[in-house]
Amino acid sequence: MSGRTKARACPERTCIGCRQRSARAGLLRVALVGDRCVPDLRGTLPGRGAYVHPVSACVELAVRRRAFPRAFRTLGPLDTAELRQMVGQEQP
Ligand SMILES: [Zn+2]
Repeated sequence: MSGRTKARACPERTCIGCRQRSARAGLLRVALVGDRCVPDLRGTLPGRGAYVHPVSACVELAVRRRAFPRAFRTLGPLDTAELRQMVGQEQP
């Protein structure tokens, strides 16, 4: 059972926090600027992108798993303050 054949129609990405696949539209693209992870709201920042659900739970999970440095193929600790601030606003 490999769900490979379905992937063509709508582009899917894996959330680096919870590791669940979602339609790209439901995920936030994160780009690396210097050593900062910044939310790429318009999808215009160059370079490698990481995808995460725009909720603090997934961002925190990704941070805890060091998924951001892995996604960006870098070793150093990354600044995720901007990202956390953004998703933090969605909390009730
Ligand atoms: Zn997620």
